[in-house]
Amino acid sequence: MPKKTIQDVDVTGKRVFVRVDYNVPQDESGNITDDARIRETLPTLRYLLERNAKVVLAAHLGRPKGKRDEKYTLQPVAARLQELLGQPVQFLNDCIGDEVQAAREQQPAGTVILLENLRFHAGEEENDAAFARALATATEVYVNDAFGAAHRAHASTAGIVPFVRERGGAAVAGLLMAKEIEVLGNLLTQPARPFVVILGGAKVGDKIGVIRNLIDKADTLLIGGAMAYPILKAMGKPNMDKSILDPKDVAQAASLLPILQAHNNWRLPTDALLTDRDAEDAHTEFRSVDNFPPDLFAMDIGPQTIQAYTDVLRDAKTVFWNGPMGRFETKPFAYGTRAIAAALAESDATTVIGGGDSAAAIHQMGFADAMSHISTGGGASLEFLEGKELPGVAVLEER
Ligand code: ADP
Ligand code: MG
Repeated sequence: MPKKTIQDVDVTGKRVFVRVDYNVPQDESGNITDDARIRETLPTLRYLLERNAKVVLAAHLGRPKGKRDEKYTLQPVAARLQELLGQPVQFLNDCIGDEVQAAREQQPAGTVILLENLRFHAGEEENDAAFARALATATEVYVNDAFGAAHRAHASTAGIVPFVRERGGAAVAGLLMAKEIEVLGNLLTQPARPFVVILGGAKVGDKIGVIRNLIDKADTLLIGGAMAYPILKAMGKPNMDKSILDPKDVAQAASLLPILQAHNNWRLPTDALLTDRDAEDAHTEFRSVDNFPPDLFAMDIGPQTIQAYTDVLRDAKTVFWNGPMGRFETKPFAYGTRAIAAALAESDATTVIGGGDSAAAIHQMGFADAMSHISTGGGASLEFLEGKELPGVAVLEER
């Protein structure tokens, strides 16, 4: 672990500002439907509280676009955190300002404050210096435990740090962040080989760049999900149009062809499950990618592809997986994703999952405990593996 963590600095009795990822899913009435992100911060919080730190938590929820919007209040998160932690959590209804400053200055040792949604202020995403300085109020130790937000240079993930340092304060990783950097860092520097990367999902534009950067790092790259079809079209396969989510992806895929032609360590689907509707009772049929009917679209990989991909996975010693193989949210199209998840669950390889929807699929299918690590970062885990320096990691002190 190249970065200092809360275990490397003195936090006893200190005022500690912790950036956490509490961007939890909620139902229409605001009830939290999955509190994993809150639970995952408990080791860091308990470590700090056992040492009588004065803990101030900051997070964002949703996209309130720089304005106060009660729909995105962190109040329900405060209530859930209080239950999980088994001690009071003081919720402040802003993240900066006179009242916040007063509360932070008077905070007793061994207590927790949760600040209101950082994104109620435009300064957060703009990484505004005045906003960052206000957040840094009274902070003696800055902790980033929000790996999922570390690929953005925002006020709470990057801009705040120089203001903390100005007063002699430290900037270190929380325990969750440290685990992410360690596990993903090992994939980058010393993966047990063969190292297989599986890429799928829907954000084709983003992930074409990822292929470019990972193709030399992986022994084998398996491509599935919606991103396969623009690539197949660029390669000249007929009748792909209905399977392509965004026409812009075809040009991007075409730009990838020279890179693919210069390598032979990648696989694309050779067959797919096609349908005319995204519905439980839809008509489905398997077809070779050479033989798509013009009126149907691909929603999952086919049995030949599943066989080929699981054969590759059987010999793997390290696997990184981002992006489902098909539209797994609808039952008839979940089979390919489930088959890959099952193959990873059976494997002795180190298995690392990144991406919100991929993680959701693994949880939903009951394979979560069989994986070595499920990253809390989607975009962040991809950028990290591409070898990019994440702004929220770069600002933390080297060990
Ligand atoms: P992650 O969140 O794991 O990074 P993405 O957000 O890129 O993954 O993509 C996940 C979405 O991709 C899922 O909602 C899934 O339904 C969708 N998807 C995957 N394959 C297909 C496909 N062939 N057609 C339509 N949607 C697909
Ligand atoms: Mg997603």
